[in-house]
Amino acid sequence: MTRGMRPEQVWGIGLTDALESAVSAALGSGYTLRNWPVGRHPAERDMGRSAPLVIFVVKEAWDALPADARRRLEDWEVPQRVLVLAADQSVADFDEVLEDGFLSAISEPLTDKKIRDVIFRAKEVKSLYDDIFRMTREIMLERELLARKTDLVLFLNRILTRASESLDPTVILDNAREDLELLLPLRGLLGVIWQPGSSGAMEAELFLEPDMDHTTERYWTEELLRHGTKLSGKSMQSYRTTFLEGGVTREPLAIPQAPEETIRLPLRVGGDTFGALILYRDQGKALGKDQVQALYASINHLALALRNAALFNQVKIRADHDGLTRIHNRRAFDERLVEELRRHQRYHHPMSLLMLDIDHFKSINDRFGHLVGDHVLREVGRLLSDTLRSTDFTARYGGEEFTVILPQTAEEPSRVLAERLRGVIGDARFNHDGQEFSITISIGVATMVPGSLAKRKELLEKADKALYQAKKLGRNQVCTALGPMPMASEPVASAAKAG
Ligand code: GH3
Ligand code: MG
Ligand code: MG
Repeated sequence: MTRGMRPEQVWGIGLTDALESAVSAALGSGYTLRNWPVGRHPAERDMGRSAPLVIFVVKEAWDALPADARRRLEDWEVPQRVLVLAADQSVADFDEVLEDGFLSAISEPLTDKKIRDVIFRAKEVKSLYDDIFRMTREIMLERELLARKTDLVLFLNRILTRASESLDPTVILDNAREDLELLLPLRGLLGVIWQPGSSGAMEAELFLEPDMDHTTERYWTEELLRHGTKLSGKSMQSYRTTFLEGGVTREPLAIPQAPEETIRLPLRVGGDTFGALILYRDQGKALGKDQVQALYASINHLALALRNAALFNQVKIRADHDGLTRIHNRRAFDERLVEELRRHQRYHHPMSLLMLDIDHFKSINDRFGHLVGDHVLREVGRLLSDTLRSTDFTARYGGEEFTVILPQTAEEPSRVLAERLRGVIGDARFNHDGQEFSITISIGVATMVPGSLAKRKELLEKADKALYQAKKLGRNQVCTALGPMPMASEPVASAAKAG
């Protein structure tokens, strides 16, 4: 194959003068022949400079080559080697022709036809090699492109699947942070989600990286609140902070040094912006166009998952909480009581239950109206929540009755706590149209001693009976259930229902 006007090179190793002339004559113009007589061979330097199309190698010269020179020629893939045999040597005798990597063997006399055939075949092989080489390069490029696309598809698939797996925003963001690392090197992920609170002002939930020093934490808190205010057009009245999970290899987050280090992404569903994420990334490496597209697609989906999680939690809170007092409702209480009884039986701790009932509540409604009655109920709910520990479970049992589950609490400390609650509520002062009033409550206490196998219903009946007793003895007092709770295999006495 001639390139431009440059003659194609043909080499010879061990060609006699006669053979050299025969080859030169057969090649004609467009070729130059360079020959190394027997005892000489191409040096590495010659081979490095350019490659011939064909090397005619006389058999005796090949056999006489030093081992390293022969190996070099055998390893050289570009030129085709043709073995030149004497007239009395048969091609059939030379199995090693192919083994040694020769294209073919020809025997003397070297006619024009034999030489031209060899050249023709060498050109065919060369052009085949060129095609294969070009195709291989194209395939490798395609494979690289495909690998990059596959990475993006895998990234999207992973982030979309995992975002839909949880209804907990912290878990969703923990996973997203991990998955986004596939796309870009992340130092941290920070987020803000806002929603209108009861007063109409915006309440924000901030998601921060753990283990930051105080200054850094304040920086990111202010940054998220400022960003939220900018996007929502409303100031953030209050906020609470949730920390993402710490990683073993994760460095505590710092304050960014340059604006390029952060990517700010609004969280939007159906045209409503309800939050934002800030990705704090390593500086310098710009994202490719397809990576940016993948990032936006993933953030859209994350927005959807986070919005779903927020709605789910709102619905759940509504289902578990009483609309008036905002403490747990009876449904949530029933559920928790079953859980606590199971724990009690498993770990053999004592547990207690309080039943509280406001005394003469009907007369509050009658004297001041239902709205004031509602206000009193809300206040009692708040006082109970404020006075009790977070491990205690307070609920509105119905009407003006409340209940408290005290895990791991025996009878005497429960009674003391009940007395304290009675005191706190009795001390509260209410006001209507300048008229001050207070209320009292009666409380029944029922306790399960460790090892008791009593059922939920029995515990409730005991508490109810104790409450009835407190009412009967004149109200504004605490009564404990009469007698111990039944132990395993003891018969259960049915208690009368309090009026
Ligand atoms: P006792 O000391 O025997 O408990 O007397 P009481 O008046 O508190 O008991 P009773 O069961 O006779 O009356 C309870 C009242 O609580 C009647 C009901 O109208 C009122 N009530 C129940 N739920 C609500 C509520 O959500 N809001 C208001 N304002 N009143 C309620
Ligand atoms: Mg009642
Ligand atoms: Mg009452």
